[in-house]
Amino acid sequence: VKETAGDNILIYSEEWNNSSYERLKLQHEIHRAIQKHEFELYYQPQYDLLEGQIVGVEALIRWNHPTKGMLSPIHFIPIAEESGLIVPIGEWVIREACRQNKEWLDEGLPIVPVAVNLSIRQFIRNDMSLQISKILEETGLPPQYLDIEITESMSIDINEMNQKLIEISEMGVGISVDDFGTGYSSFHYLKALPINRLKIDRSFVTDILHEKSHAEIVSAIIAMAHKLNLQVIAEGVETDEQLEFLRTLQCDEIQGYLKSPPVPSSFFQKLLCSA
Ligand code: C2E
Ligand code: CA
Ligand code: CA
Ligand code: CA
Repeated sequence: VKETAGDNILIYSEEWNNSSYERLKLQHEIHRAIQKHEFELYYQPQYDLLEGQIVGVEALIRWNHPTKGMLSPIHFIPIAEESGLIVPIGEWVIREACRQNKEWLDEGLPIVPVAVNLSIRQFIRNDMSLQISKILEETGLPPQYLDIEITESMSIDINEMNQKLIEISEMGVGISVDDFGTGYSSFHYLKALPINRLKIDRSFVTDILHEKSHAEIVSAIIAMAHKLNLQVIAEGVETDEQLEFLRTLQCDEIQGYLKSPPVPSSFFQKLLCSA
């Protein structure tokens, strides 16, 4: 439901009522979906720009909805966050990603770290480091084969966040800042937190060849990241021209439809086999 400014009040309130009803319904359905195992992880490979090898993979949640078909996370993650249902969903995502990667390891495949998306609310409501260490122990996945992606946000308390991230980092789990460039990151926070990698937001990559200011921003992010000893991955790479340009800027890794969309686990397994 679009809530644009400038709509008249009547339409606005109708939409609002409608959307809060839809919200409740969706929350209810998410509950059911967790119990009925309707969620699935898709996997999108991440490639090294020098060698062209798969060096990581991002796990992205999908919802096999019984009547609506395959639903994108943008349709339910925000509502799951609002209602707190992100906590059980998020726990399932970490466990499933670890379980799957360990299974591939046991099959003798050349596995790579699997990156899971964690929302800030998940962090706030949970003892995240304890949860992660339990899941790693339970599944037997070596910690270096798990990464977490967190999004920058103004609402985080750096000190509280820092303690949790240090614990996670000390286990050997990698930490990336997602959608970098769109939020409220400051140099202070990049220096203070135990981060390994920045993910440049797709919006900068999309028009990197046509919008000079975006090219300059990306170039500056990469130079700064390297000074701070951080790796840089560009997301949303869709063309060869974007890839080549990112290469000249010495970006470390790329992810995007040019190489592969997110794919079901069986498909990613084949990509690993042929790697
Ligand atoms: P994100 O973490 O920024 O993930 C990248 C999104 O961009 C994914 O959308 C991916 O399918 C899409 N994408 C990848 N390459 C390209 C490309 O070349 N072009 C374009 N146009 N898009 C590309 P998806 O899977 O729909 O996920 C949307 C968002 O939902 C994610 O954005 C993330 O914020 C959230 N999300 C997904 N899975 C989870 C999860 O397990 N937990 C949480 N908390 N959030 C999740
Ligand atoms: Ca992500
Ligand atoms: Ca992202
Ligand atoms: Ca994004």
